Amino acid sequence: MPSKVQKRNVSETVGEQGRNGKSRTIKVHTTTKDHILCTWNELPDWQKDNEYIHGGYVRETNNFTQCINSLFYLHNESVNIYSHLIPGISALFLVLVDKYVVPRFPTTNFNDYFFLDVFFFGMFTCLTMSSTFHCLKSHSPPVAKFGNKLDYLGIVVLISTSMVSILYYGFYDNSLMFYTFSAITLAFGTACAVVSLEEKFRSREWRPYRAAMFVMFGLSALLPIGAGLVRYGAHETWTRIQVKWIVLEGVFYIFGAFLYGVRFPEKYGPGRYDIWGHSHQIFHVLVVVAALCHMTGLLKSYAYVHTVMIPHMTVA
Ligand SMILES: [Zn+2]
Repeated sequence: MPSKVQKRNVSETVGEQGRNGKSRTIKVHTTTKDHILCTWNELPDWQKDNEYIHGGYVRETNNFTQCINSLFYLHNESVNIYSHLIPGISALFLVLVDKYVVPRFPTTNFNDYFFLDVFFFGMFTCLTMSSTFHCLKSHSPPVAKFGNKLDYLGIVVLISTSMVSILYYGFYDNSLMFYTFSAITLAFGTACAVVSLEEKFRSREWRPYRAAMFVMFGLSALLPIGAGLVRYGAHETWTRIQVKWIVLEGVFYIFGAFLYGVRFPEKYGPGRYDIWGHSHQIFHVLVVVAALCHMTGLLKSYAYVHTVMIPHMTVA
């Protein structure tokens, strides 16, 4: 049943033995938020997801204003919301100020800002869709379901924009390879978006195929690396695609998803990590770290093109 939360301050009187042995009365003020939050046992079934998180749940609100209000007090989704909201807004800021913060080379042009912004915009989309989902998931089953779709769509957008942006620099002098691998990326991205959004594919039976599709999408990053190895050799590919950073990015994504999958650490201390430190929060932080690894690799790849490749192409 939706809880009706009113603006109110409740005073409870609690008896306590004073120092001189006489009983005294202290007043405990509980604020509005105490009436919104609830425990696992009080949750309706549709809100139950992780039994190792015992408290700090925002009750079903059925009200968008109350969901937005949840941004201003601490609950078990607060870290999930802000860990993606702050870097998401920062990524949008980068789109707006790219010309001032991205190192500029004499050959830097519109295309560079476009492809760097493609990644920044992908990061913004993924992270803000994720924080929107975590903010609205207490609304009602249909809104939570819709938010979950947005969350998946955001992941698809981030993977697609990450790949296309680095492909542009990795295959700067080979448009056929750039277009081929970008087309493969967009095809996988579209397929993953469809299985995330279409009701039919969101069923339990489709879950393993959906997961497999996402894994294949991630692994499709190996195709251009393989093609680069054949065409340019190991050293050149390592520098062009900044393989070190891309591998590091993959490790953080996979490690984050693994922790989330095994529900570490809350499984080993149920109720101890409700507000701070549970697996979904660690996963969120690792997603941001992975995106920052990609950004570092992308900027290094961009610098390599403008400081080594283009001058060499001009001389040749
Ligand atoms: Zn999340």
